[in-house]
Amino acid sequence: MPRLFNFSAGPAVLPESVLAHASQHLLCLGETGVGALEHSHRGDAFAEILASAEARIRRLADVPDDIDVLFLQGGASLQFAMLPANLRGDGQTADYIISGHWSQKAIEAARTNGLVHVAASSEDSGFRRLPDNPVSSTQPAYLHYTSNNTIAGTQFSAPPPAPDNIPLVCDASSDLFSRPLDLNLHDLVYAGVQKNLGPAGLTVVLIRRQRLDRARRTLPAILRYQAHADAGSLYHTPPVFSIFVTELVLRWLEEQGGLQVMAQRNRAQADRLYDRIDASTVLEGLVDREARSLMNVVFSAGSPAADTRFLALCQQAGVVGLRGHRSVGGLRASLYNAQPEAAVDRLLEVIDAFEAETSG
Ligand SMILES: *Cc1c(COP(=O)(O)O)cnc(C)c1O
Repeated sequence: MPRLFNFSAGPAVLPESVLAHASQHLLCLGETGVGALEHSHRGDAFAEILASAEARIRRLADVPDDIDVLFLQGGASLQFAMLPANLRGDGQTADYIISGHWSQKAIEAARTNGLVHVAASSEDSGFRRLPDNPVSSTQPAYLHYTSNNTIAGTQFSAPPPAPDNIPLVCDASSDLFSRPLDLNLHDLVYAGVQKNLGPAGLTVVLIRRQRLDRARRTLPAILRYQAHADAGSLYHTPPVFSIFVTELVLRWLEEQGGLQVMAQRNRAQADRLYDRIDASTVLEGLVDREARSLMNVVFSAGSPAADTRFLALCQQAGVVGLRGHRSVGGLRASLYNAQPEAAVDRLLEVIDAFEAETSG
């Protein structure tokens, strides 16, 4: 069966060369005589993979020396809970910018055991636009935002302004390393890798070292950033498979030329699709122009029946994964780093065919 063109929002398409390399090494990793998934996480072979993944992240994103790179589990969803437990002091408030489904989940998790403040929200627009500049509470523990709203299809083109001395925290689950990222502006950035960087199971956390030891004393060690940092991300068995494949994706990103090159490529792909939707007589974008995501293009064919017909034409053309999130409906094309140009070519052909059929 040939591989289809996959526009899924996550888990999502990975570079084919990475998948081929990974499958070869499942039976025998390099010259070790042991498969990639069968090595002890305490052994030399895995230690090399983990060190290489960290070194590549540091090079790719120009990570400052005082930021630690942690390899954790539990997805972005566990970070929603770990973040306030680690960074918010007793009686302190945590500020959130609400720009979509995932920032709502993040603030919900923080609200269960402490004070939160909505610093800005675009909920009144149905999240079709980005919120206005945040209005902070007094001395908040941090200001949290979601850089790319995977479901709504909006993306911050630059980090929101944070007051001096207020740590800026970013959920970058669906756009980490799709473009350069200014880590000097942030104290904590986290991402589940399954959208843009690797297979599900791994969460990358970039955290400024001075924020590591702020956790409440009652917090179990497994939930403390400090415990994971002290153990070099080996506090317990790490998700070895996801780390193994993510290291290959990071290698691939460096071979492509790094984050500047990826940013140009991602923008060019998104522009092609948005331009075609703008020019279309039968499709419509569902997001304000200034807020458009370069990762997730959210659009509609005008009615649920028309969306379903569009998806059927996609299927016939070997294009899958375009059904919009159940909370929004419509259509969504995800254009993460590994999305090949040929996939966009094929999707544009489907749009031509759909338009001809609908208006003819
Ligand atoms: C997918 C996603 C999440 C949730 O990730 P899990 O790994 O399922 O916990 C959170 N935030 C953003 C921006 C996402 O895209």
